Amino acid sequence: MIQSDPLRRPEPSRAAATYGRVVPNFMKKGEQLYSGKAKTVFRTDDPERLLLHFRNDTSAFDGVKKAQLEKKGEMNNRINAFIMQKLEDAGVPTHFVERLNAEESLVRRLDMVRVECVVRNVVAGSLSKRLGIEEGLVLDEPVFEFFLKDDVLHDPMINESHILVFGWASAEEIAEMRRLSLAVNDVLKPLFSAAGILLVDFKLEFGRVGGKLVLGDEFTPDGCRLWDAATQKKLDKDRFRRDLGDVVESYREVARRLGVPLDD
Ligand code: ADP
Ligand code: UDP
Repeated sequence: MIQSDPLRRPEPSRAAATYGRVVPNFMKKGEQLYSGKAKTVFRTDDPERLLLHFRNDTSAFDGVKKAQLEKKGEMNNRINAFIMQKLEDAGVPTHFVERLNAEESLVRRLDMVRVECVVRNVVAGSLSKRLGIEEGLVLDEPVFEFFLKDDVLHDPMINESHILVFGWASAEEIAEMRRLSLAVNDVLKPLFSAAGILLVDFKLEFGRVGGKLVLGDEFTPDGCRLWDAATQKKLDKDRFRRDLGDVVESYREVARRLGVPLDD
């Protein structure tokens, strides 16, 4: 696991974090590689490591609806660090190295697979629309779906045949994405459940490093559906999509219930 990774950097000192340095003394924040809808990716002085900056920008409907939500970046960076560490501890390989400060984390550089993997425990969102099944139906076993990561095409649903024939991933990688996605569900469903939260569905992205696939990108309330188990209140990005208000407050509530450290 990550603890035995010989390339792993030591933890940044508390003093460095306190004085707001962007990265530890030994690491330079390099050129910006990419700026997406919610995160910006920077090089570091280690070609195998990237810095992810979780911004306050939030978007929905393929970037059509946009807003800046104060503290969203920090909340997502903290929740992501907590979840990625839980997954690593459970044996799911991830790109996560360490959280550097409020809004930034260090990750392993991946060659990203152009495919999004969605796992669903409860019917919601596009599954409900596509199949005309009422939102809220609890599934006997998880549904697994692939989508092409392409905003211009509105992330169309694809199948294994498309992925193979168009060369987006190999048969082994397809099987591994499915296996790891379901393993993530097995770890996170009980974790959220213990916090009184129903893990309805989530999206994952994987990438290649050292000849294997590992979980990349993020796991935050921006990319999953989380409902209060008792009241069904939405605690995720649907609050933004549907103008329900209290978006970051709900993310903070998720963090609080999970026990994510919020003040270091
Ligand atoms: P989007 O591209 O969907 O607008 P973001 O704003 O979250 O999304 O941008 C982050 C980008 O960084 C995504 O395109 C994601 O695929 C990519 N990414 C995430 N983790 C890694 C990684 N470890 N190595 C390389 N790219 C990554
Ligand atoms: N999702 C995501 N990014 C996307 C598409 C979906 O993070 O580009 C997440 C979404 O937040 C939800 C899950 O994947 O948790 C399933 O989304 P769905 O297919 O229902 O689509 P949506 O309703 O978001 O259009």
